This record gives sequence, structure tokens and C-alpha cells, in this order.
Amino acid sequence: MPGAGETAADVAVAEIAAAVAAESAYMEDVLAHLVEAPTTLGNEEPGQDVMRGAFRELGLEPVDMALDEEMLRSHPAASPFSWDVTGKRNVIADWRPGGEGGRSLVLNGHIDVVAPAAESLWRTAPFTAVRDGDWLYGRGAGDMKGGLAVILGAVKALRALGLEPLAPVQLQSVVEEECTGNGALQCAVSGLRAEACVVTEPFPASVSISQVGVLWFHVDIAGLPAHAGDAQDGANAIEAAFPVVAALRRLEEELNESPPPPYDMFDHPINLNVGVLRGGDWPSTVAAECTLSCRIALFPGQRVEWLQARVEEAVASATGEHPFLAAHPPRVRYDGFACAGAEIAADHALVRTLSESYERLEGAAPELVPTTATTDARLFLHEGIPAVCFGAWAENMHGVDERVNIPSMISAAQVLAVFIRDWCGVVG
Ligand SMILES: [Zn+2]
Repeated sequence: MPGAGETAADVAVAEIAAAVAAESAYMEDVLAHLVEAPTTLGNEEPGQDVMRGAFRELGLEPVDMALDEEMLRSHPAASPFSWDVTGKRNVIADWRPGGEGGRSLVLNGHIDVVAPAAESLWRTAPFTAVRDGDWLYGRGAGDMKGGLAVILGAVKALRALGLEPLAPVQLQSVVEEECTGNGALQCAVSGLRAEACVVTEPFPASVSISQVGVLWFHVDIAGLPAHAGDAQDGANAIEAAFPVVAALRRLEEELNESPPPPYDMFDHPINLNVGVLRGGDWPSTVAAECTLSCRIALFPGQRVEWLQARVEEAVASATGEHPFLAAHPPRVRYDGFACAGAEIAADHALVRTLSESYERLEGAAPELVPTTATTDARLFLHEGIPAVCFGAWAENMHGVDERVNIPSMISAAQVLAVFIRDWCGVVG
């Protein structure tokens, strides 16, 4: 019964919020299990097993969605990959509608995480879930197993209230967000063709409306091996990488010269990252080969092929200062992310409805933000499914002592549950 000054809708919000709060221990528990599955690239399956169990606990039937290599090799929004994807699969679950007339929805999160980088720098073992105050530590806690827990908590709470959506809702746990986005692309192509998608990446108190694209490229640099005592007879491939990096840094500066809105709010929106350098094989041998593996971003509206040409030009320009490189030009290869940016209108019904749901609980609208990283939301946008990111408060993603704020995870699940009511409609 609505009390004085309350409407029925307000009471329903409070009921939903309480039902989600009642799932706090469940959400933290499932998050801990997810964190303790070290789901780096190629090792996602133990995490997907946790998700299968979690979907069953919600009363939903988990379904495996295998990656279709042939489709992913030819789809224009796919990223190239050199590794074997045989047997790799997303896990999805359909929450069937209990009525009609609502809007359909995909709730998406990724199971894969990046490697811990430097375990010795961590305060705690990266794949052990450790709670300290309001925070839960572990690789992937924020990016984005906390987000998977947000989805599970929201849906579990609504089901506990006996509520069902008025349109199909599909829950998706995907692979390969951190390297290609091809898991999400498989879902966008083969999963529910929904009227909206929420990716529960850690965007606290904010909704993403624009994201950059990302390009991974690898530069293979040749050298000429020789005994270190006769180094003048050889050519050192590792040292030849230095002018290549310098040329790429000049390109990076050019790309940041006049960022288009909304990226003009950042000092340096396009970041080049020299993530991996591999080369040489012996301290007393002049390095015979070296590979630089890099990441660089591009603004929405810019084409991946255009950036690839700029990268190749920059690498070629480095050979001018280096006679051996000039005679043996480095080779640029593409393996991993090759994706354009993506945007959604700030006044899109999805953005407005989610903002309103957020405001009902938090009393103020979330910020609508651009991001200088890429997320799986872009694959849905590229496939014509409106998509945003919204989620918990996390810190140190891809760094050391990654952590997610547990109260923010509960709050995000409350918002998501109310959003499901507002977007899909629910029936008891
Ligand atoms: Zn992520």
C-alpha cells in the first residue's frame, strides 16, 4: 500500500531496491567465485562454468554459444586473431517474458580478464578474492566480474519478487572482450536482437555514450646477429625499435592535436601503448629480431584502415634515420583489436530511461560520458542494437590491486533492476 505522499511506482522502486539489497551476500559470493577463476585469454571456461551455475540458480537455462570462426573471419566488425578459437563459447540465458508489450533487452558482461601484469606488486594474490572494508580485491573484480554480479543480482531479485519482464531479456557472459570483442560480436549476430543492451562495465554514476575505437598492431623488426665482440658487423633489432617507437610517438601527438567533441574534454584522448617488446636471445649476441606490440586509439568517425595507413607511414618514416632498417623495412601486422569507435545519442530512449531509473534511486541524473577505452558496447551499436555501459565503481583495472566497491555494486544492481522494470515492463 502506498503511504502518504508515495505513488505506487515509488513503492515498487523501494521494494525492488530492498529485494536487490537482500541479494548482497549472494552477489559478493558469486563475484568471489568468478574472481577465483583465472579467466585470462584461452582460459575462460572455468569462469563460464561459474556463470552456467549462476544462471541455473536464477532458474534460467544456460546455453552455450560457440564462436563461429568462419563468421568472425569475414564479418566487417570483427577483429583479426591468430589464435585458435575452437571450443570457445559465450554462455547466454534467456529470461522469457511473462506478458507482452514491453521492450526487449540484452544484459551483457565479459568473463575474460587481462593477466595480473606483475604479481609481486599486488598486496594480495590476484586470483584470490579478498574483502577489505567496502572493497573486494582481485584481477577482474572490477573489469568486469563485478558487472556480471550486478546482472545476476538484479535479475535474481526481480525473480524473487515474482516479477517477469514483458519482453525477452537475454543474459550474456562473453569471451574475448579484452583482445577482439569477437565474443560480443557473436552475441550481437547470433543472440537476441534486442531493442537495447546494457553492458555492465564499471561506469559508476555514469552512462557511456561515446567510445574510441582501438587498433592493435605488431611491428616485426629484423636485425643481423653477430658476436657482441664484433657488434659493428651486426645490426641490433632491439635498438632499431627505438626510432620506430619515437616515430609512433610523433604520430600519437598529431592524432591528439585537435580532438573532436566530446573528446576535447580530455588532455590526451588518444593513447599509444607500447605494451610488449620481445626480442633477442642472448646477452652476447647482437639481437637478430624484435617485435613491438602496441595499442592505439581512434575517434568515432575515423576509419580503422585510415589509422592502419598512418601507423604504417610512421613506421616507414623511422627507417630514414637507420640504414639497416631502410634496407630491411619492418613489417606491420594486425592481430587483435581493429575496431572503430561508437556512439549513441544522448537523448536516445535507452540513455533517457536508464538515466531516469538511476535518478529514481540516487536522486540525481548520472553523467553521460565519453570514454578513452573501448568496450563491447560498440559491437552491439555496430550491429544496430542501441547499447551503453553502466555499472559499479572499480579501480586499478589492468593495474595492481584491482578492486570493486561492493556497496556500489549493490547500488548498480538496484538501478539495473529498476531499469528492467522501466524498460521492459514487469508483471507479477
Ligand atoms: Zn571490461
